[in-house]
Amino acid sequence: MSLDALASRIRRELAMIAHPSLAWLEPRRAPDGSNALDVLIAGAGQGGIATAFALKRQRVDNVLVVDRAAYGREGPWVTYARMPTLRSPKEYTGPDLDIPALTYQAWHEAKYGAAHWQSLGLIAPADWNEYLLFVRAVTDVPVRNEAELVELAPEAGLIRATLASAAGRETVYARKVVLATGQDGTGRWWMPDFVAALPRAFRAHTADSIDFTGLKGKVIAVLGAGASAFDNAATALEAGAAEVHVFCRRPAPQVIQPYRQITFRGFLKHLSDLDDAWRWRFMRHVLALREGFPQATWDRCAAHANFTLHTGAPWTAARVEGARAVVVTPRGDFVADFLICCTGIAMDYAAKPELARFAGNIRNWADAYAPPADERDHRLAAFPYLAADYSFMEKQAGATPWIKDIHLFAIAATMSFGPSGSSINAMTTAVPKLVDGITRGLFAGDVERHWAALKAYDVPQAIVPGSRAD
Ligand SMILES: Cc1cc2nc3c(=O)[nH]c(=O)nc-3n(C[C@H](O)[C@H](O)[C@H](O)COP(=O)(O)OP(=O)(O)OC[C@H]3O[C@@H](n4cnc5c(N)ncnc54)[C@H](O)[C@@H]3O)c2cc1C
Repeated sequence: MSLDALASRIRRELAMIAHPSLAWLEPRRAPDGSNALDVLIAGAGQGGIATAFALKRQRVDNVLVVDRAAYGREGPWVTYARMPTLRSPKEYTGPDLDIPALTYQAWHEAKYGAAHWQSLGLIAPADWNEYLLFVRAVTDVPVRNEAELVELAPEAGLIRATLASAAGRETVYARKVVLATGQDGTGRWWMPDFVAALPRAFRAHTADSIDFTGLKGKVIAVLGAGASAFDNAATALEAGAAEVHVFCRRPAPQVIQPYRQITFRGFLKHLSDLDDAWRWRFMRHVLALREGFPQATWDRCAAHANFTLHTGAPWTAARVEGARAVVVTPRGDFVADFLICCTGIAMDYAAKPELARFAGNIRNWADAYAPPADERDHRLAAFPYLAADYSFMEKQAGATPWIKDIHLFAIAATMSFGPSGSSINAMTTAVPKLVDGITRGLFAGDVERHWAALKAYDVPQAIVPGSRAD
C-alpha cells in the first residue's frame, strides 16, 4: 500500500468512526470582533499534533496549532536528538491514538514495505519526524509554523495570546490554551553556573546547535550520564574528536529504564487518580532514578578507543586557562577544548515569556504536598501541581483565576500524571484524558446555551396527519 493509499484509508476509517458528528461549539466573539479559537495549542511536536487531532475527533473544530520552529523542524528529532534511532521500542504507539491505520507501523510498511518493518530494529529519528508530519497532514491539523507564543493574558473571559513572527506581533483570542511546548516548556535548559560563565566558545548544552565538525581533533568533556550525554559523546567521536570523556556524578551510570516498568495501561491511565502521597512516591522514584540508556547507546561510544567514562566525578568548578577549559572534579582537574553539558532542565516559569504574567502564582508540588523526610526532593517539588484537566492551579486563589484555561501538556506534567506530556508511550492514554478535560470545560462553559437550545428544539421526526405539534 502506498502512502497515498494509506492516507485514503485513514480518512475513510476516521469518517466511519466520526459519530457523534454534530457540531456543538459556537464561536465566541472576541473583543476585537474576531471569532475566538476554541483552543490554541502552542507546540506542533507530537504532543500538540495528537492533541489537536483528538480535539477534532471531539468536534472541537476551531483549533489552531502554532510552532516557533520552521516546518519539519518541530521537536528534537532532526535538530538536537543526536542518535541513530529512537530509544523506545518500535511497537510503542502514540500519535495514532489507537487508530491502527495511523500507527507508525502502518506508515513504515506503506513507505518501506512489511518485510522492512519486520527486520527493523528501532525507528530512525528522521522517519519518526516524517511520520509526525504525515499524521498532521492526514488528520488536517491546522498549523502555523514560525509563530511563537510570547504572552498570555486574560481579556473578556477569554485568553488573549500574543504571537510573534517575522510579520510582527499579532493577537489571537482563545477559550482555552494548551502548552505542548516540550521538554523546556516550563523552564530552561540548565548547566552549572560555573560552566555557563565560560565564554560560549568553550561550552554548549546538548539542546544547543553544536558544530561537531569543528570538534575534530579536539578533547571533549561531557557532563551527565543520561542517554543524551552518550549520544553527544558518540557524535563527537564519529566527527573525529581526539578524545571524548563523559563525567558522571554517580558511582555507576544509570542503566535501568524505570519507564519500562510503568508502561502498562493501569499505571498510565490511573496514577493521576491516586492521592498525592502515592503519586509523589511513584514519580519521585522514577524521576530520581532518571532515564537509563539502552545498550546500543553505550556500544556506540565504547566502539571508540578514545572514549572514557569517569564515574563518581562531578564537576565542581571550571575555568579557562590559555585556549583551553579546565574542569575541577574530586578526582582532579581535567583539561579539555570543549565542554558539553547534558544536565537537563531547571524549572523556571518566569524564564518563559508565555508564562511570565502568572509565573509567580503557579501552584507547584511544594505548595500542595509535604512528603516524608526520606522522600523529599527539592527539584521535583518545583514541578507544577496540575488540576485533573492538566490546567495550572493557583498558588493564591483569585489572583489569576484565568489560568484554569491554560493546560500544560509538557514534560512538567509528569509529577501530576506520570508519563503524559512529552512521552510517546503515554500518548494513547494521556491525550484522551487531556482532551476530556478540555471538552468538559468547554461544555460546562456553554451549559446555558445548551439548555436554551434543547428547550427551543422543535424539529419533528415525523408528520402525523391530524395531530397537534403541541
Ligand atoms: C534528545 C531527545 C531524544 C528523545 N528520544 C526519545 C525516544 O527515543 N523515545 C521516546 O519515547 N521519547 C524520546 N524523547 C522524549 C519525547 O518523546 C520528546 O521530547 C518529544 O519531542 C516530546 O514531544 P512534545 O510534543 O511534548 O515536545 P516537542 O517535540 O519538543 O515539541 C514542542 C514544540 O513546541 C514548540 N514551542 C515551544 N515553545 C513554543 C512557543 N512559546 N511558541 C510556539 N512554539 C513553541 C517547539 O518549537 C517544539 O516544536 C526524547 C527527547 C529528547 C529531548
